[in-house]
Amino acid sequence: MTLIADLVSLHQVDSQVRALRGRLASAQNYVAMQERQRGLLHGRLEEVKSQTRQHQATAANQEAESGSVKARIETLRTQLNTSTNPKQYAAVLNELKVLQAKRDEIDDGTLAQLQKVEELQAKLVEIEKLLTERVQVLAAGNAELEICRNEVGSRLAELDLERGSAAARIPQRDRDAFNRVADLYDGEAMAELVAVDARAREYVCGVCNMELPKEKYAALASNQNAAVTCTSCHRILYISDVASAAS
Ligand SMILES: [Zn+2]
Repeated sequence: MTLIADLVSLHQVDSQVRALRGRLASAQNYVAMQERQRGLLHGRLEEVKSQTRQHQATAANQEAESGSVKARIETLRTQLNTSTNPKQYAAVLNELKVLQAKRDEIDDGTLAQLQKVEELQAKLVEIEKLLTERVQVLAAGNAELEICRNEVGSRLAELDLERGSAAARIPQRDRDAFNRVADLYDGEAMAELVAVDARAREYVCGVCNMELPKEKYAALASNQNAAVTCTSCHRILYISDVASAAS
């Protein structure tokens, strides 16, 4: 086989390797993204749970405080009923009013706390629902990734061998040039040299579509053992009958 035919074979297997690696990488990225979102939701859930506990604790403290104020109020009422001294009566009555106002204020605060707890609990239900959905999506993503790993894994091993033997037939210098362009264009290292008008000797690069000097065609047609590159995109050129001879 000629150098160009060997390069075309390498290109074919190299594109397949890259496509499979790409498929595996996107399945992995998808799972990683779902995992991150699950982590964020879990964090949010814990945060809301902790806020709920804080408001519940504050409400419980306020209820206890209200209870002790209530006990004091009852004691004062008894004193009021048994009071015979008008001055003492007025003093007790005054303290009662102050305590009653204080208790009302505490109870309002408790209500506000309990209302907050209710809001947070509704939020918790919502987050738990989202989290359940996310966990399901993540499980499906992991299953898909596993399938992809199995399918891609064995095929990739075969292709890597094929790629190795295709590459081994190519001199180091041309192989390096191929790898550079393949990395640059994500595997699309080669381009067909297309005759737009063979009689007028008008040629273009089949990938970037830029016009090619006729000397490029002449060089490639006369010697299939030297790589010729596109003037514009630097992809390695081939003529299509050479490609079909190689495949
Ligand atoms: Zn080009």
